[in-house]
Amino acid sequence: VTKIGVLTSGGDSPGMNAAVRAVVRTGNYHGLEVYGIMRGYSGMIEDDIFQMDSRSVANIIQRGGTILKTARSKDFFEPEGRAKAYENLKKRGINGLVIIGGDGSFRGAQKFSNEFDIPCIGLPGTIDKDIAGSDFTIGFDTAVNTAVEAIDKIRDTADAHDRLFIVEVMGRDAGYIALHSGIATGAENILIPETKTDIEELISSLTEKEKRKKLVNLIVVAEGDEYGGANEVAEIIKKRLPNADTRVCILGHIQRGGSPTCLDRLIASRMGYHAVECLLNGRFNVMVGILNNKMNYIPLDNAIKAKQKISEDWLKIVKILAS
Ligand code: ATP
Repeated sequence: VTKIGVLTSGGDSPGMNAAVRAVVRTGNYHGLEVYGIMRGYSGMIEDDIFQMDSRSVANIIQRGGTILKTARSKDFFEPEGRAKAYENLKKRGINGLVIIGGDGSFRGAQKFSNEFDIPCIGLPGTIDKDIAGSDFTIGFDTAVNTAVEAIDKIRDTADAHDRLFIVEVMGRDAGYIALHSGIATGAENILIPETKTDIEELISSLTEKEKRKKLVNLIVVAEGDEYGGANEVAEIIKKRLPNADTRVCILGHIQRGGSPTCLDRLIASRMGYHAVECLLNGRFNVMVGILNNKMNYIPLDNAIKAKQKISEDWLKIVKILAS
């Protein structure tokens, strides 16, 4: 491998810039030419590719979003689109790729590396932490800290008015943001896609708490929970507890932006460095993860198939601490 490309794909996440910086600087350190590819696979197909040097990634480690922009490319699903992308890499002599994105992006990378002789390394860049094989994904820590900060503020106003607040956080298929932010803010209940919620149990626990004059209640709901989000959960609760002053707050896209936390900068830097090492050492078509504080390399195929499981331990802790 002599010339490598780096791209960010799928949903953006804070820390992607830190990963790009690490890839460019580690590549340069080893004498590789490094090319930035704009807007994920779209830029690869549209030939929006430029050479990067150490200076081009100066002053970005602290910035949210991604300087390479990101996109979802329909054309990359088609063999013709991928062939065009390959031609654009080939004419520059790019013979290795680092893809920073989620499982969809890895699926694209896996197809591409099977069809063409270009090794791909995946870095888990997603706020959802929904990828197996790594304790961390780039952006999760920042997103969850943003959610915690926002929920703390909501708690203040909930307290002042004795309200029941139902807060929706991101997570269509994965409940990690809800679980972690809910535990960290002392939520009464956390509704996540991975588990079933007994709504009767929830109602009776709210009723019981009302009797005990525990008036401030916070429920954190992942957008992909079984009822379809905070508004839907609120409808059910309002019908059953018409006297409760129930409000909904949907945090939305603030969870994606902002300056990455120290942890996200660290893991992005570490993963970016190891992505280049993988390409240099012939460890091809893997996702670079960190497991038990050690680097973990899993074939892209496995990274796609397996999802993280929520540990039973956490679920028990939620129940006990909310009483
Ligand atoms: P997030 O988890 O934030 O949604 P993601 O990487 O999973 O990020 P996707 O939109 O699923 O986001 O995928 C990003 C891009 O990867 C797609 O727009 C497409 O270009 C490519 N891609 C995804 N799946 C495939 C596939 N099966 N074949 C080819 N390309 C794919």
